[in-house]
Amino acid sequence: MNESSKAFLKSAYREYYFKHSDAVGFPEEIGSREFGYIPFGGTMVRHLSFKSPGEAIAEVVRQSPSSVYCSNARYESPSLPIEEKGWKGAELIFDIDATDIQTPCKKGHDLWFCAKCHAEGRLPRPRNCPKCHSSTEEFHTTCSVCLAAAKDHTLRLTGFLVDDFGVQAEMIKLYFSGNRGYHIHVFDDRFYLLNQAGRAEIADYVRGGSLPATQTIASILKRRPSEEQNTSLGWMKRIEFYASSQRQRTATLQKLASEAISSSRSLVDASVTTDVHRVFRLAGTLHGTTGMCKTPVESPSSFNPDTDPVVLSSSTVELQVDYCPEFRIGGRPFGPYAASRESLPTYAAIQILARGMGEVAR
Ligand SMILES: [Zn+2]
Ligand SMILES: [Zn+2]
Repeated sequence: MNESSKAFLKSAYREYYFKHSDAVGFPEEIGSREFGYIPFGGTMVRHLSFKSPGEAIAEVVRQSPSSVYCSNARYESPSLPIEEKGWKGAELIFDIDATDIQTPCKKGHDLWFCAKCHAEGRLPRPRNCPKCHSSTEEFHTTCSVCLAAAKDHTLRLTGFLVDDFGVQAEMIKLYFSGNRGYHIHVFDDRFYLLNQAGRAEIADYVRGGSLPATQTIASILKRRPSEEQNTSLGWMKRIEFYASSQRQRTATLQKLASEAISSSRSLVDASVTTDVHRVFRLAGTLHGTTGMCKTPVESPSSFNPDTDPVVLSSSTVELQVDYCPEFRIGGRPFGPYAASRESLPTYAAIQILARGMGEVAR
């Protein structure tokens, strides 16, 4: 990314932060959190701390970085190196990303491409371009099907948290991540001191990873007297409910158990939940490569991930696009472009500039 593209993005982000500083959401006890940011074209700056939201906002506006992060952990001394910070506990956090959910549409919209000769094709990516032998890259996008799948897995997770872990619904906060999924923050004191192993068990449970083989589940179901079947809890309750809803079919119990698991499990990213020293995108801040906002989701049914998180200005900018396959943002398609000058709204231009597929035209 050249200097004029960097300057353009920084000023677009600054305009957003200047006008919408009240949209940035800080967790409790801001003074015990670690903050970090990534400047446009730079590398991560971590171990920052702020005494108040006002102090943090002033720095965000001043830097107008590509990404802003905050720890879910609280520390005695958040600005010291990790081993010296003094960990005091951390909220339980989950990340659900459409990339990790196998949707049938991915075959159509995820591509490999050659930046040199503009050849492209469906994944899996050949290491070298079949036409010009240059190295190739992957191009991932999302569509409404992918985003709906991520929302569905998010609702499955809140179901597990409420029904199986006894979390009160109002202690769960949902956010659109600003890219391809959702972040789920759980403000329930019972989890604050949980270590990595305990968090890994929770992630494994909601992913259905700790269940016995479907063959074993089928033989348990077969042996269970029907009068006991209403007393099941947790996963067994879900599986029995699914199996009884499919009674008119001739499928085996093993097949029904397998279907019940795949339609109930929530594919959270276990590595995110397990890491107790992580910094997460701060609520109300912009994603560095999409320009979309990490947006609080009050009502999942009415939240539209295609348009609600698109907050950058629609004023146009001239780009010299080297090459870019078709992508969607703000509910409409853009591209494909190849070696052309394009006049694009700012919210779409970021997608090309951040991927290094074009520059602001001079
Ligand atoms: Zn090529
Ligand atoms: Zn899709």
